Amino acid sequence: MTRRNLFSLLAAVGLASKTQAAPQQATPRPDIVPLRLSDAQWRERLTPQQYAVLRQEGTERPGSSPLNGEKRKGIFACAGCELPLFQSQHKYESGTGWPSFHTPIAGALGTQTDFKLLLPRTEYHCARCEGHQGHVFDDGPAPTGKRYCNNGVALKFLPEAA
Ligand SMILES: [Zn+2]
Repeated sequence: MTRRNLFSLLAAVGLASKTQAAPQQATPRPDIVPLRLSDAQWRERLTPQQYAVLRQEGTERPGSSPLNGEKRKGIFACAGCELPLFQSQHKYESGTGWPSFHTPIAGALGTQTDFKLLLPRTEYHCARCEGHQGHVFDDGPAPTGKRYCNNGVALKFLPEAA
């Protein structure tokens, strides 16, 4: 098998796995009413950068988000629907160039396994609008040991009122 064929095969396997991956919703929170909009409505509501990440599982360039350096107290909410996803005290500097958190707000995220890079990764998204946020890894700090690696463009920071 040539190198080129191998890559085509791997790409095909990756795509097939991706389309078969079923969302694994954690225990749904009764206070979260799902927000479902048409593709046209999402395009109207979001900037092109937000749309690419939230609705097409894109990944922003590392270091590109102003939220990397955000140190104020407040809430990081979904840029698609403003559901609160993370609290500022659970943010930490991971050195990756993406806003990183060790603990999400309970019930705010759903997860699924994706195979875009062939090795399985755990994708997570907003539990209300299913907007893609990032991926979660097992190399985070205490107390959870998790690293929620989030696209800054998928978040909206809401500073705590002084
Ligand atoms: Zn959302």
